[in-house]
Amino acid sequence: MSECIFCEIVAGRAPCHQVYEDDLVLGFMDAFPVAPGHTLVIPKQHAENLFEIRAECLAAVSRTSQALALGVRKALDPDGVMVMQLNGAAAGQTVFHYHTHLIPRAEGSVLSLHPRIPGNTEELESMASKIRSALD
Ligand SMILES: [Zn+2]
Repeated sequence: MSECIFCEIVAGRAPCHQVYEDDLVLGFMDAFPVAPGHTLVIPKQHAENLFEIRAECLAAVSRTSQALALGVRKALDPDGVMVMQLNGAAAGQTVFHYHTHLIPRAEGSVLSLHPRIPGNTEELESMASKIRSALD
């Protein structure tokens, strides 16, 4: 077993509510969503942060972040979508495998980052299904 939970997900040894997959990246629902539809995009190849990720993987994550943000917008019609990426514990990074957050935002909503409350499994799968359906 890897000590990295995201590498475990990539390897299929840990579950996720998947939204998208290709050779380089994986998109799935954040298990601790800060808003309904909170989605993560990760490179399949382990890199701890922006300082370490290979340019090819970074480009693939960026392309996928745009595609999934479009899917989130189409599926959930939020007022906005926040894209967030954290490097280092001091910046709030809690899983040390590069990832981009896509967070649907509602006008006037207050955001609490990295809540410790796990999402409801059925709700997460429902969101994943909606976003998958909205992808071209
Ligand atoms: Zn990893």
